[in-house]
Amino acid sequence: MSDERDEIRQKVDIVSLVSREVALRKTGKNFVGLCPFHPDKNPSMTVNPLTGRYKCWSCGAGGDIFNWVMARQNVDFAEAIRILAKDAGIELQQRDPEAAKKRKDRETAMDTALMVFRESLALSRVAQDYLRQREIPPDVVKEWELGYAPDQSDALTNRLMRDGFSLAESKLLFLVDTDASGGYYDKFRGRLMFPIRDERGTLVAFGGRVIGNGQPKYINSSDTPLFRKSRVLYGMNHAKGPIQETRRALLVEGYLDVIACHSAGIRTAVASLGTALAEDQADLLRRWCDHVVILYDADEAGQKATERALSVLATAGLQCSVALMPSGQDPDSLLKQQGTAGLLAVAEASIPPIDFLLKRLGEKYPVTDDRFWAEVPEIVSRAKSELELDRYLMRLAPQYPGISDPIAAVRSLRAMVLRKKREMKTGSVAIASAAPKVRIAMTSREMAVFAALVTTDLRREAYMFSRATNLFTSPIAIQLSKAVSEAFPNGPPMGPLAHWIHLIEPESLRETLSEITDDIRGQNVDHHVLIDALQQLKEHAAARVSQELKVGDKASYFGDLKRRKGLPDSEEADDVEDLFDSS
Ligand SMILES: [Zn+2]
Repeated sequence: MSDERDEIRQKVDIVSLVSREVALRKTGKNFVGLCPFHPDKNPSMTVNPLTGRYKCWSCGAGGDIFNWVMARQNVDFAEAIRILAKDAGIELQQRDPEAAKKRKDRETAMDTALMVFRESLALSRVAQDYLRQREIPPDVVKEWELGYAPDQSDALTNRLMRDGFSLAESKLLFLVDTDASGGYYDKFRGRLMFPIRDERGTLVAFGGRVIGNGQPKYINSSDTPLFRKSRVLYGMNHAKGPIQETRRALLVEGYLDVIACHSAGIRTAVASLGTALAEDQADLLRRWCDHVVILYDADEAGQKATERALSVLATAGLQCSVALMPSGQDPDSLLKQQGTAGLLAVAEASIPPIDFLLKRLGEKYPVTDDRFWAEVPEIVSRAKSELELDRYLMRLAPQYPGISDPIAAVRSLRAMVLRKKREMKTGSVAIASAAPKVRIAMTSREMAVFAALVTTDLRREAYMFSRATNLFTSPIAIQLSKAVSEAFPNGPPMGPLAHWIHLIEPESLRETLSEITDDIRGQNVDHHVLIDALQQLKEHAAARVSQELKVGDKASYFGDLKRRKGLPDSEEADDVEDLFDSS
């Protein structure tokens, strides 16, 4: 495992990994770019090819290639390893062959079911009539692999049995079910079938829409060993590329809406699966985009769902806007009535969340109602800047009851907003509050030693001193010195910093070491700078020791140093003295 990680570290370059998502500019040894983890106006993220790490000076996000993939794609460490290994063309050892076989069998059973549904669609009069009636053309049927579950109880059951699949397993996959006597029957009957693939394209579930007037209108696979409903978005396998390219996604309600949008050329459309948008689905979107346009139905249910989705998406750190459907329409019906241009126009004319919420509020209460004004502060407090807040307050002010002077009304409204903001702050955890800019609490002399340690030519020279904890006074330098000793007890680290910085424990000290290399970029640490720094550190240390021990001579200091560090009276230890004496 750790071999594989090292191999990945050596093959994957942090700069090219980050540049896939962030435009980077070279400055000195580093690259800088806009931080994707907070709304960034001036580039505050540095990417250091030397350390293999990125760091945002504004929000504090930082780490190595694995942290980057974990944060950007919202996956755990094991998954990040898989993703990076695949990228780098490294074959990971199969850790559990039996589990892999089981998974393969399940996927094959799902594929068999899809084949049965697609064959049935081609043969069924009922299904073909329905497609014509819904105006779903053959190329769409093909692209979205639509199928039909015949209106009989054993079509799929028989096929699965004949092909040697375990029916008990198939039940786990929501393909068949058992009746009271223990006999198996098809779970989907008389339905238009939508295969649901995850973002990687693996077939994980089905949605079935009744043909005709039966109930329920839709049946969707419940969670199975292959499928977590809350973690899959319908259409993501088609939409992933376009979403990643534009960093935007269009969120719609149902299968046919997704298909309608894609047919109209809006290739970023996805849908949650018959339920309200889940937090995991918002996280999934955040892997691929920064902005989500919500396009739900114009009815009350759709508008309520929009409010909920706005809050889920905002919590996930996504920017949102709301596209407004003409009343009584959904994307599918709009496409049929007004064609591609009509649907495109609606999707593109989206409004900011605050405008949407104020519009909803206005539909709930007239502006003369106190309840309207009671809810205004919470809504407008979402404004991202003072300027934006002002714009909303000035727009609202003329309607504010009881105060005819708009300036006074703005002032009064602003006071309400501030009060609301204070309430919300104390009531909830502030999300992603900008971390204070990290300053390394270390003297420049101390920093020079560690900077030399990461400089290939000076490493041998600096290694020994970096471990001489007594040389340092700043607590962070002392910790770092100890961490270097622990990570490299037998000799200096080898190779580029990016390949060994992960051995420094804990993470916070890796950050410190990485920051030192950032901080030091203006000044070059060469042999002379190092010698100078060591000379001064030595003098200070000697002075400290003489004060502490009331012993003033250098020899006893170094004797003491060797004893305390457990250094033998070796050549290396003598070098310490030589180096000090030489300068
Ligand atoms: Zn940031």
